[in-house]
Amino acid sequence: MSKTNLYGIIKEIYAAATEKNGVETGVLGKTVLGFPIPYIKKGHGCGNVSGSTGGNANGNERAREKEEKRKEALIFGAIHAREYVTAPLVLKMSEKYAGETAVYFVPAVNIDGLALSIFGIDFVEYLGRLYGEYPHPRSADRPNFRYACGLGRRRENPAALFCECAEFFGEIERLAVEKTIAQSAFLSENFQKNSNGFGGGNSRGPAADTSDELPLSPFSENLLKINGYSRDFSLWKANIDAVDLNVNFDADWGGGAQNVRYPAPANFIGPYPESEPETRALVNFTKSHDFFCVLCYHSKGDLIYYGYGGRFPDREFAEQISRSTGYPLTQSENSAGGYKDWFTLKFDRPALTVEVGGESFSRVELLERFDEIYDRNSNVASIIDRFARERKRK
Ligand SMILES: [Zn+2]
Repeated sequence: MSKTNLYGIIKEIYAAATEKNGVETGVLGKTVLGFPIPYIKKGHGCGNVSGSTGGNANGNERAREKEEKRKEALIFGAIHAREYVTAPLVLKMSEKYAGETAVYFVPAVNIDGLALSIFGIDFVEYLGRLYGEYPHPRSADRPNFRYACGLGRRRENPAALFCECAEFFGEIERLAVEKTIAQSAFLSENFQKNSNGFGGGNSRGPAADTSDELPLSPFSENLLKINGYSRDFSLWKANIDAVDLNVNFDADWGGGAQNVRYPAPANFIGPYPESEPETRALVNFTKSHDFFCVLCYHSKGDLIYYGYGGRFPDREFAEQISRSTGYPLTQSENSAGGYKDWFTLKFDRPALTVEVGGESFSRVELLERFDEIYDRNSNVASIIDRFARERKRK
């Protein structure tokens, strides 16, 4: 991976998923805006959940396949938008991993949120202008932004889709570096003449920090309102529908101390458990595999949250990860609805929420300290591999 830069993060995820080199890649599902959520699979093991031996498999073969499947593990990053440093981290872990256990690496679950946090709503407006259709504010049938990167047309071909997404985010990166995006001059010059119709429903509040009257799509207007009329989305945590994905899982949903019940940059639990396409993508992907452990990368705090509801499965595994990274194990008090919580309750196997980076650093500073963060986590995937192989011998 090239030097990590803020604007290029999402492009690099898609570029890595495009360059296959014999490595299996695929899609977990798609985001609210319709972007595919890519995974990169390294190692062997049996990835074919439905089994590949056909109808003639005897009991021993089936048992062996089942045992092979149990050797799978999942590592994902960036379920929270502003925690974008975890995306290149998981990506680099996938590049370096050379174990035999099948590990699925998902660099970023919340692709839309990442883009919003990095580029602001100008990104949504640019997307809409490019594809001639703007996403809709939350509504009963939750229409996706179907034409994002031609997803509707190219569903059958993830590689072509990833390539198209890499190109799209490459263009966004270029605009951001040239400061033609995230700059009101760009918006006023381009959108006012290209997006007829918007601007009539201007409901911007008194605190709007834009100096001119920009006609935004209703979707962006709504985002701006949720963000307190600030155009700075760098601390946004939720998905692009203002649901905090890591309180949207079906595990004591709504029972967390910090939960809120209205759209917000963080902590909104959503209208019901698993209401978000990103949540459902992770849940379905997990259910269709047999992960013996899951690592959920977050930032920040330099610690690991482990266990839920009085369950602490495979403590030895958690302790090995803790020793290797130097992050102490701790319990999350008064939280609920997270992936770790759901996985622990449902499968009684270890899921760790790994919070990388020192609390005192800003989000951008954490990116500058990327090498240090990677070093602390560089042995995690090989510990997973060793653990799986030792278990198999037992
Ligand atoms: Zn987080």
